Amino acid sequence: LWNFSAGPAAIPTAVLEQAQRELLEWNGSGASVMELSHRGKRFIALAAQAEADLRELMSIPADYAVLFLQGGATQHFAQIPMNLAAEGARADYMVAGHWGEKAASEAAPYVRVNIAASSKSDQYLHLPSPESWTLDPGAAYVHYTPNETIHGVEYHDIPDVGEVPLVADMSSNILSGPVDVSRFGLIYAGAQKNIGPSGLVVMIIRRDLLQRATRPMARIFRYAEHAAADSMLNTPNTWGWYLAGLTFQWLKDQGGLVAMAERNRAKADLLYNAIDGSGGFYRNPIAVADRSRMNVPFTLHDSALDAAFLQASEAAGLLALKGHKALGGMRASLYNAVPLEAVQALVGFMADFAQRHG
Ligand code: PLP
Repeated sequence: LWNFSAGPAAIPTAVLEQAQRELLEWNGSGASVMELSHRGKRFIALAAQAEADLRELMSIPADYAVLFLQGGATQHFAQIPMNLAAEGARADYMVAGHWGEKAASEAAPYVRVNIAASSKSDQYLHLPSPESWTLDPGAAYVHYTPNETIHGVEYHDIPDVGEVPLVADMSSNILSGPVDVSRFGLIYAGAQKNIGPSGLVVMIIRRDLLQRATRPMARIFRYAEHAAADSMLNTPNTWGWYLAGLTFQWLKDQGGLVAMAERNRAKADLLYNAIDGSGGFYRNPIAVADRSRMNVPFTLHDSALDAAFLQASEAAGLLALKGHKALGGMRASLYNAVPLEAVQALVGFMADFAQRHG
């Protein structure tokens, strides 16, 4: 069976198998990793190893803190302005789809949101063109969503926003290829696509930005407190942290992020070529240069065939291809845990289905 879910998404089989082997007793501790104190030596070593492996994979510079938080990406839509913007400050939001829009609306109670770029008027069929950006040099930060999970658009280059700290919601493309972390002020990602189970958020934040939070707030909301406590201000998601650590080791075994980028490119090319070469049976409407490597929405030429497509694909072992309700149609998510073999099976099925129903 191949799982094309947009999230929570497939986890590498090797990671799940290792977790299964270690479920009842982890590392000679006499207990499951879920049953160990986060204050104990063993768990602290696990947590530090996971951070070290992530730092190595992403070449994270020393002046960045790595945090393992909770609340999902959505909570941080609100918490980021609380931490990065003084009361009354302005922030720029570049909006290329549903999640960018949501990030902006959740930030609005805490910062004066300026929509500095948007492709909404074109139904998010492409990225906002740089000529249309209205960046504010006095903004506290610029927020964008490098990969829009629902609309299937992706920035393939980091936008140049000058000196203003760039904040990226990488929930659906973190670890899909190398990135130059030093270009960012803050990177955050809900774990449930390319990292591990839901309930964990990984954040990479330039340390000087930790000092920005001046408004009154509870300690639990303040990133500086989490950094000072090594993300153990309260009980962390220990299970999620453990699985994230296994995923980081798996990524290193796969050859790191350069190798993942090559694989992800090959997978996406295979599927887009199948769609574009289907003589109009299948269609992806996104501007070719802006297409996502991670999430590929597509429609059938006749939506009356959707139910038959979903039923037959599931029977063929191709799971979770139903598109997001906002767009309808289909969506195949091709995160790191989805191998080329899965995409080969998908395009084979699609060709066969088109032949039978064309
Ligand atoms: N940002 C992006 C790009 C997403 O794809 C998602 C979820 O699918 C979210 C944010 C919301 O994440 P969470 O459910 O962890 O709050």
